[in-house]
Amino acid sequence: MKFKEFGIKKDILNAIRKAGYEEATPIQEKAIPVIMEGSDVIGLAQTGTGKTAAFALPILNSIEFRKRARVRALILTPTRELAIQTFENFKKYGRYMDLKTVCLYGGAKKGNQLAQLKRGADIIVATPGRLIDLYNEGVLDFKSVDYFVLDEADRMLDMGFVPDVRKINSLLPEWRQMIMFSATMDKAVEDLANQMLKDPVRIQVAAQNDAAETVDQRLIYTKGELKDTIIIQFLQNEIKNPENLSLPRKDRKNAIVFTRTKKGADRLHKALVKAGLLAVSIHGDKTQGQRKDALDRFRSGQVQILVATDVAARGLDIPKLNYVFNYDLPEEPDNYVHRIGRTGRAGESGIAYTLCCEDELHLLYEIEKLMGKEIPEASTEWSLELDRTKFKRHNKRNNYRRNFARRSYGDNKNRPRRNDKHRDNRNNDNHRANRHNDNNRDNKHSRNHRDNRDNRNKNN
Ligand code: AMP
Repeated sequence: MKFKEFGIKKDILNAIRKAGYEEATPIQEKAIPVIMEGSDVIGLAQTGTGKTAAFALPILNSIEFRKRARVRALILTPTRELAIQTFENFKKYGRYMDLKTVCLYGGAKKGNQLAQLKRGADIIVATPGRLIDLYNEGVLDFKSVDYFVLDEADRMLDMGFVPDVRKINSLLPEWRQMIMFSATMDKAVEDLANQMLKDPVRIQVAAQNDAAETVDQRLIYTKGELKDTIIIQFLQNEIKNPENLSLPRKDRKNAIVFTRTKKGADRLHKALVKAGLLAVSIHGDKTQGQRKDALDRFRSGQVQILVATDVAARGLDIPKLNYVFNYDLPEEPDNYVHRIGRTGRAGESGIAYTLCCEDELHLLYEIEKLMGKEIPEASTEWSLELDRTKFKRHNKRNNYRRNFARRSYGDNKNRPRRNDKHRDNRNNDNHRANRHNDNNRDNKHSRNHRDNRDNRNKNN
């Protein structure tokens, strides 16, 4: 479907043409008319489907220039990277319109953001914590908000932002139209939607948890201690070859390597650099400046390898990404789908390599269960024979260990507990203790609250 068939204004059509889009994507085709009609919308779509334009275009289309800017659209995102990306999208589609768009996120000095707000804002893209901070300083007025967008609602829940989102929602006028997007839909997202949206129209483009069909997935089942060698050799062959490096920067092949933990990302980054590979890394402990710098260098093609944890990479739109490497498997199976979805965008092809060792078989099992299919194995000189029935044996062994511990220690306080492992995992960027448990989350003294607060501080 062509964009002009939606009845979108000329200024926006020109900006769409300038962006090089010819046809609306499926999510745009479904969402734009419904949002233009004025209905609340809940959309199930991931980054890469064109969902940002699906809400940005109808919002821009309805906003007229006013001499005195007043906040008419408020877009909340869980991470600062996504906030910046969404802000840039609004600038791109609204380039021929006289509108003020402001982006607010933590980890950056407030002064500049305050100054921008004082000059007025028609559209605000923000992470929840910083928005509340600035609201408390009395520089924000939400009385004229017509559109409220909650992007990546599932991520908002995971990161413990829901109390902040509820507070912001309570400050908005009754009549505001609400649009909520989520990459996955479970009971917690449904509950949030039921509480906040009025008779929403449901929009879904791909079956839930469908990995992009354009991604060629390859599993390398191997020993944990061989992973560094494998990844270094692959990157040297695929990325650091003279042919690739002789191309103009923007056309060079590139790769994101995902690790489960922040420590793991730092360690792997060092190992790659030691092996002579030029790489940058992003994770939740890096400052906003470091994260932005790394992403800018990667996006511009200055560096072709990005090492990242899931939290830092979620929602990133990197056009033309050739390879995703899963150095280790994610704890949460849906993160596998998000990771590989970074490549194979907008009809481009991409390859996702996953390195799995015996300790991770249970994670592989969960991922394949979620996707409803097996990841095809790639045979390499390092590949071991994979016996998928080991999942069961592995789980049986773990059950045996747990029961053994119980028998040996009884209820003794010194008995090693599952939570000890979780405590050790606190530097895991992807840690999601007591997922969707709002009661715990609201309890100031709970460990869960502390974890979420840490996450918030890092990502906001
Ligand atoms: P998003 O899912 O919003 O992150 O968008 C993913 C990518 O698709 C971004 O690079 C957009 O610029 C691009 N995009 C959005 N709409 C279209 C379209 N109609 N045709 C081609 N590319 C698009």
